[in-house]
Amino acid sequence: MQSNVPITQDVLTIPRKPADGPVNLVGLTRDGLRDVLVANGTPERQAKMRVGQIWQWIYQKGVRDFDAMTNLSKAYRATLAESFAVVLPEIVSRQVSADGTRKYLLRIAGGHEVETVYIPEEGRGTLCISSQVGCTLTCSFCHTGTQKLVRNLTAAEIVGQIMVARDDLGEWPKPGRQAKDETRLLSNIVLMGMGEPLYNFEAVRDAMKIAMDGEGISLSRRRITLSTSGVVPEIARCAEEIGCMLAVSFHATTDEVRDRLVPINRRWNIETLLDALRSYPRLSNSERITFEYVMLKGVNDSDDDARRLVRLIRGIPAKINLIPFNEWPGAPYERSDRERIEAFADIVHKAGYASPIRTPRGEDIMAACGQLKSETERARKTRAQIAAEAGL
Ligand code: SAH
Ligand code: SF4
Repeated sequence: MQSNVPITQDVLTIPRKPADGPVNLVGLTRDGLRDVLVANGTPERQAKMRVGQIWQWIYQKGVRDFDAMTNLSKAYRATLAESFAVVLPEIVSRQVSADGTRKYLLRIAGGHEVETVYIPEEGRGTLCISSQVGCTLTCSFCHTGTQKLVRNLTAAEIVGQIMVARDDLGEWPKPGRQAKDETRLLSNIVLMGMGEPLYNFEAVRDAMKIAMDGEGISLSRRRITLSTSGVVPEIARCAEEIGCMLAVSFHATTDEVRDRLVPINRRWNIETLLDALRSYPRLSNSERITFEYVMLKGVNDSDDDARRLVRLIRGIPAKINLIPFNEWPGAPYERSDRERIEAFADIVHKAGYASPIRTPRGEDIMAACGQLKSETERARKTRAQIAAEAGL
């Protein structure tokens, strides 16, 4: 076992400037918002109603300016504007893939950058959001894990990604239209961008509560999937405190291989992980768990692996998402051949599990699973090269 692999929650954080200026209302829980409103002079007996009204303006109508919140009195709007603001991450760049996938590079406090990906599909659209800048977990096939700097995103920065995307998609409800509209462009959320969501539990939970709230973003909890590499102690908590759908980055069928691919396995091995997963559907009242399985040529893609996989997960209501490996510069693996992936899928399918093969989306803009941050790093290098060439 390598001892230098960080499998802890340790987050190297560049100190953020203490917030001076207006308090950002985005990302505050209902209680949190209530508290700041009361502290700012809102009478206690009105506070609950004000929270609901302000939430609807911010999360359902996309309003940033207090003056536009017309069901509040003029004087009250002015008080709000003095102390508060509605602040979202700033779009640094936006790329659109040939297949319609959109990748946003967003700048957050401290000048850090994260990526968010919107994937349009027939009749729906999924937003893949990030929970950390970088990731401490160094999975050997994931480019995000090679990034040094890591900081947890705040709840505002997590829910802010959803709002930025809705802005860009122009999807704030028109007057008279229901907010809960099944034809929404942004209809699903996956926490599968940069970072390990269960290592930023509170912020992810608070943001997802806003996403699921009827006066917030109003998405059903069944349309939100959190993906974890296997932070076992937080799995039950995720069921109890968030209650969203769960995906797990499984990727291997022996501890020996999983130790190499997903180093957190050295702390919580396959058996321990499966025990935690067995309780999840009951605790969260969700039907099944998604097992993500990246197909790496000659590493984890044999028929024996497929058979071991179905033996391991026996008794767990599950769907197996097979993810053809997405390459990134310097990656030490290759994608399994299509026939191999299909043979693997077949074995899993015959054992009674749905086993869809994920179509890589947005590969031309490096927006596919595990590729996030690479384009940015490349752009940085180019800027550095340009600077060097210019003798700066
Ligand atoms: N940290 C969380 C969520 C982000 S990763 C987790 O690991 O689950 C989202 C998914 O993309 C995970 O299943 C991850 O294993 C997968 N992934 C990472 N790098 C990949 C790559 N290069 N090709 C394909 N899938 C990859
Ligand atoms: Fe982190 Fe997930 Fe990438 Fe592993 S796969 S390094 S846990 S983002």
